[in-house]
Amino acid sequence: MTGAAGFPSLSRPVLFERLEAGGVALTANRRLARFLKHEYDRRQQARGLAVWPTPEILPLSAWLERLYADAGVAAGPRLLSSFQEQALWERVIGESEAANPLLQVASTASMARQAWQLAHAYRLWEPLERQPLNEDCRAFLRWARGFRELARTLGAIDVARLPDLLAVWIRERQVPVPREAVLCGFQEMTPQERELFAALGHAGCALAELAPPDGAARPMRLALPSRKDEVLTAARWARARLDADPHARIGVVVPALMEQRRQLARVFAQVMQPAAGLPKTPRAALPFNVSLGEPLAAYPLVDTALAVLELLRGETDLNRLGSLLRSPFIAGAQAEQAPRALLDAHLRARGEPQVELRRLRLLALEEDARGQPRPYAAPVLAHSLEALLVLADENGDAVRAPSEWAEVFFAALTALGFPGGRTLTSEEYQVHEKWRELLTTLASLDVALPRLPLAGALSRVKRMAADTLFQPASPEVPVQILGVLEADHLEFDHLWVMGLTDEAWPASPRPNPFLPIPLQARAGLPHASAERELAFAQRLTDGWFVSTKELVLSHPRREGDRDLAASPLIAGVPAVEAAVLGLAESPIYRDVIHGSGRMECVEDTTGPSHPPGDLARGGSQVFRDQAACPFRAFAAHRLASASLGLPQPGLSAAERGSLLHQVLARVWAQLRSRQALERISPERLEAIVKAAAEEAVKALARERPRTLSGRYAALEKERLARLTLAWLEEVERARGDFEVEAAEAQQELTVGGLTVRVTLDRVDRFPDGRRAIIDYKTGEARPSHWEDGRLEEPQLPLYAIGSTDPVAAVAFAQIRPGDMGFRGVAAARVDMPGVRYREDWDTLLGAWRQALEALGRAFVAGDARVDPKQYPRTCEHCDQGLLCRVHERLNLGPMEPEGGDD
Ligand code: SF4
Repeated sequence: MTGAAGFPSLSRPVLFERLEAGGVALTANRRLARFLKHEYDRRQQARGLAVWPTPEILPLSAWLERLYADAGVAAGPRLLSSFQEQALWERVIGESEAANPLLQVASTASMARQAWQLAHAYRLWEPLERQPLNEDCRAFLRWARGFRELARTLGAIDVARLPDLLAVWIRERQVPVPREAVLCGFQEMTPQERELFAALGHAGCALAELAPPDGAARPMRLALPSRKDEVLTAARWARARLDADPHARIGVVVPALMEQRRQLARVFAQVMQPAAGLPKTPRAALPFNVSLGEPLAAYPLVDTALAVLELLRGETDLNRLGSLLRSPFIAGAQAEQAPRALLDAHLRARGEPQVELRRLRLLALEEDARGQPRPYAAPVLAHSLEALLVLADENGDAVRAPSEWAEVFFAALTALGFPGGRTLTSEEYQVHEKWRELLTTLASLDVALPRLPLAGALSRVKRMAADTLFQPASPEVPVQILGVLEADHLEFDHLWVMGLTDEAWPASPRPNPFLPIPLQARAGLPHASAERELAFAQRLTDGWFVSTKELVLSHPRREGDRDLAASPLIAGVPAVEAAVLGLAESPIYRDVIHGSGRMECVEDTTGPSHPPGDLARGGSQVFRDQAACPFRAFAAHRLASASLGLPQPGLSAAERGSLLHQVLARVWAQLRSRQALERISPERLEAIVKAAAEEAVKALARERPRTLSGRYAALEKERLARLTLAWLEEVERARGDFEVEAAEAQQELTVGGLTVRVTLDRVDRFPDGRRAIIDYKTGEARPSHWEDGRLEEPQLPLYAIGSTDPVAAVAFAQIRPGDMGFRGVAAARVDMPGVRYREDWDTLLGAWRQALEALGRAFVAGDARVDPKQYPRTCEHCDQGLLCRVHERLNLGPMEPEGGDD
């Protein structure tokens, strides 16, 4: 009997007999080679053998590379690695399209490289040269000639042409061929493969092919509410089948494996090993394996390595630095865990999105410039950074060959003590080895790349890490989660194929843009046309029916707001409900624990009282927070709980407001009165204001050197000067006479037993000796917030009742472009536009005193009730939401499930 490729067809037992006799099995992909090896081993064990020779089962690509390597490098051109090949394509395209800055060279090179491989595999060169081409195809032909020429100059060959070269050598008997080879999984053979196998036959190698599985499944079709339910049900099904038979071969095939990989790994781990996260539970090996692997760059160890290399630029992004400071893969990570976290918080509080390496080292030192110990001192880190600084200085502007950069990168990692002091787990060890291999590969790019600067070398190594899919080796496990191609030709006891919607199966065509689409369709290239995709999907679907005993074909019913139907390729399969699968409920531990909880309510709304007489940190903000929500005040001012700062480009609203305060304080320190403002010349006033803006910006620039420099600093000074002059001209000049008695003055106040230190923005004295207390606002000022018992803006009432001198008025000075003026209340008629006379001033003052004393007493007593003044508005910008868990307390909807919805 002959198979699909026209060679004698063998059953699996016969294949194994041939392998025992020294034959070779060549597979269409790695997964099939691994599967056959595993089945072979099972057979030998079943026969009672303890040891046996390793069978020759390997993917065709690996066999060709081995054949070529065994023939000796001297026999032919050097074989390019995939990274070398990519670099050569990028070089050819970059040089050819230098005038087109919009072209994305790396992704174009990947597509061109794929077109090159397809053109060789499907013998498209002749028809390509003969037919009219569009601009993209013409560009590809131009690059292809360039690539061929460059490779020839370098004495190199690529994997796309290797089968052709070896076919010639095989025909000419320059290389030894096996007596017999069995082809496995070559259901669709390219013309190039056909010619290669013909050459093998010509050289005396007897070829046969493995017959496809011929089982008969009990298929069923299942529609589940969502993709998430589909994954969860498949995981529970796999667990149930495994519990019933620990040796069962279980497959889960997922067409969109790459996109769903993380969700699958998480849900299967929760279902297969629900106790994994519980304290003191040893981590056992998981009984499933998700195919394809993750990009190397996604592994924490490699992420740390890349973050270290980025430091060579002399500065780094704060978020990147944060993950480096918390990483266990650099020297001193464990011993300096706490100070490094504090250092991260300190840098975030400063708000600069970029951190210089030099400054970071200084901050990590044990003492500051005045000899004071730093709470976030991390001497091991400081020492490591010193060595890294030397490398950064030497290499920041250097242009080097890739192999030289590889050496610099190894040195930088050594300087930071990478991969840390603790023993690596098996997975981390393998990732580390793979990372070292990647850096060695970088060194091999000398042949393909010119000398390049640090930025170029860094982006190259990052791209290589992102493009390298890596899966740590693990023992053979019973549950395999695979993509559709990998599952081709495998056999299972139980198989579940998910995601089979009418949108996803068959897939939409994805022809290569650099080859004419009609030519691709005629030649039957993968993904070339809808017909090709349909035939391909039909073949794989037919294969599932004969590769297992139990077959479940599923699809989600909805995604987002779209209804989804079953793929027409499975529409004829009997539909069943999930109950037919007979799965016992296996909720994850988190839900069990939640569900079994018996709620016991314990009122615990009071913390320890504040020591009487002690100054509370936070100034008037303590009263403000206590009024907004007692728990907020307790958390912020007693527990010192605060969220980490979020660095942002430019200045925050608070920083801009503070700058304006500083400018006005400096200006009034010189003017002192409205009369002086009246008398001063416009030129002189402008000079004073500009100088004040200059000094204020300079002072803040010590904390925010990168932000407040250059054009940004100049613009900020201009803004401050313009705003201040407008305020003085439009509002202050229009008032009656006053003198500025104090600006930014500090004062201690005790109200309701609570002592705080407050800063008064400004105190004016009227000619009759009474005072107005003024608070600057760059946002909207609302005196109406003084009217109810929980004062939303308590600072001015606080100053008013705390003042030992008679107060005539309290007012917000609202300073914002186009909306300037005072907003306040007064005890008497005062010449201050926007300030309202209140006949009931004494009553108002009494109400303020009562409200503030109550707030002060409550804080001192340790009142910590979760009681936002107006939910949800009060909570919108509160830092303490994670701590108070108001959303749970008020039963405002479920918690987000762990890991999100994916
Ligand atoms: S989030 Fe709301 S309830 Fe929680 S502390 Fe803040 S203001 Fe209070």
